[in-house]
Amino acid sequence: MQVKCKFCSNKNDKEQMECVKKGKVNNYYCPKCLIDIKTRDEIINKFYEYTNSLVVISQVYLAINKLKEKKLTYDDILYIMDYVINNKCVLNYPAGLAFYADRAIKQKRELDKIKEQKEKVLKSIFEKPTIIETNNTPKKVDSAFDITNFL
Ligand SMILES: [Zn+2]
Repeated sequence: MQVKCKFCSNKNDKEQMECVKKGKVNNYYCPKCLIDIKTRDEIINKFYEYTNSLVVISQVYLAINKLKEKKLTYDDILYIMDYVINNKCVLNYPAGLAFYADRAIKQKRELDKIKEQKEKVLKSIFEKPTIIETNNTPKKVDSAFDITNFL
């Protein structure tokens, strides 16, 4: 049986979806969408905590959706929110997040690149060393300098 995700409206097999009970109603979500919802709520909580804004939540949703339209993920938008907080940026309206998007995302992509490189290096360190087996016995190295020649 196929069910529809309450968040993204995609249909999928019931077994592949997460069921969240709300009263007597079963709501289904893609596992990824549940993570997205959690991230989105985190963005919203941080926004209100940081700005003390009295703006209605629909305005925050709208600002987030505008950034989503720019092909940013919820993780990206959370990063923008964190960027604003960490740099003590002025933020009076949720739409103001878009103002910091370019700078924050540029920083995030650079950090991602560094992280990726670090992981590559770590992986190469922990990879099994390749042992080359040969049948050759080590060559006896003749000493070029033999002290007995001078005795
Ligand atoms: Zn979904």
